[in-house]
Amino acid sequence: MSIIADDSDFKNQKSEGTREKNPVIRPEAIDLDKNFENCIRPKSFDTYIGQSALKDTLKITIQAAKKRELPLDHLLFYGPPGLGKTTLAGVIAQEMGVDIKITSAPALERPRDIIGILMSLQGGEILFIDEIHRLNKVAEEILYPAMEDFYLDMTTGKSQTVKTLRVPLPKFTLIGATTKAGELSGPLRDRFGIIHRLEFYTDSELAQVITRTAGILNIEIDEKGAYAIARRSRGTPRIANRLIKRVSDYALVKYSGKITESIANESLDILKIDEFGLDTTDRNLLNLIIEKYDGGPVGIETIAAALGEDVRTLEDVCEPFLLQAGLLQRTPRGRKVSPAGYRHLGYKTKEISSQQSLF
Ligand code: ADP
Repeated sequence: MSIIADDSDFKNQKSEGTREKNPVIRPEAIDLDKNFENCIRPKSFDTYIGQSALKDTLKITIQAAKKRELPLDHLLFYGPPGLGKTTLAGVIAQEMGVDIKITSAPALERPRDIIGILMSLQGGEILFIDEIHRLNKVAEEILYPAMEDFYLDMTTGKSQTVKTLRVPLPKFTLIGATTKAGELSGPLRDRFGIIHRLEFYTDSELAQVITRTAGILNIEIDEKGAYAIARRSRGTPRIANRLIKRVSDYALVKYSGKITESIANESLDILKIDEFGLDTTDRNLLNLIIEKYDGGPVGIETIAAALGEDVRTLEDVCEPFLLQAGLLQRTPRGRKVSPAGYRHLGYKTKEISSQQSLF
């Protein structure tokens, strides 16, 4: 798998720079984190847990493409972060037997960034662009003919001597991933032959993710322990994998190292992750709307300013799960806490509390 430097690589480089100046951060600790990601990322459909309807469809598409000896149609995956979009792109490349180049839209700021990547592709290869809704207009326009007819229009020379050069490209597959399908421009969306949404995972699927990761990392865990972590992982494998590391540290320091249900619950309580998987930010968000805005509706910018959080973090990370869990509602006039949200935080529901205030 060849990987083009993206902005996360840039962040890593920056942290490596800081590393030299800060002897407290051991280099091996950082590399361990990178290795952790690589070790646990599933590489085939067999180890990619859940998303069964999507996997079935993709298997057929891959078989058909192989029989026709043609590259796959361009694919778009959308859904909240951490559900396995990047991982799935890697699995598809593996199953197709081709290389994948991974980048993200913010790393494709200048025309030469996207042109460089497109020109480096070999026939059949996959180009994965994360956060594709953040692609700028110029990059998008370069992509259109590349996606549709596999060529690039390049201009050379200046003013009167300017010439347009049509450069053919090898047939490739673009896989785009986004947390915000609605923000993709119509023309770009229309150029994807296949569009799929990734769903949140069930507790049983997440327990499988956790057991698999534990096996790779030599962490001892029983079935109930895996379920206890799964229930608080907000339907998201990335969170499940993060929590198992934290719980494993706790089990090792406080107990013998084996994760059981009670040890998992105890350690997640200490981490302030409640039985629904909500963390302090989620609870602060719901509390703020209930206490300061009478349960809403209130605009997301107002909420972000009051919490000192970034709007994008709230929209991409907090909200999808709160909406899916039915704790928050999105209305044309802003966000509202649902009766279930009131109950979850131990408040009486809005109707009851406002009736009570009449007396
Ligand atoms: P996204 O691209 O949607 O943000 P990633 O593909 O980076 O998410 O996945 C986040 C983490 O979750 C990865 O470390 C990966 O190992 C794990 N993961 C994601 N999907 C699955 C899955 N279906 N089965 C097992 N592990 C998964």
